[in-house]
Amino acid sequence: MSAFAATKIAKNIVCRQCLNMEEMVTAQRGITDPVTNEEVEEKEILCARCGKKIEPFKPF
Ligand SMILES: [Zn+2]
Repeated sequence: MSAFAATKIAKNIVCRQCLNMEEMVTAQRGITDPVTNEEVEEKEILCARCGKKIEPFKPF
């Protein structure tokens, strides 16, 4: 599973920090629509919950 920066929850884009545990699990299983690092690098996308700009996710 590739890294995702955020995911779409009911048409809203939500950053990883704002996902609850259940949403994170479904996102990791690829059930919800992922927003890739490339997408957030290309254009400025704001999280629907915290309103912050979504940063690309860099795994350790
Ligand atoms: Zn957020």
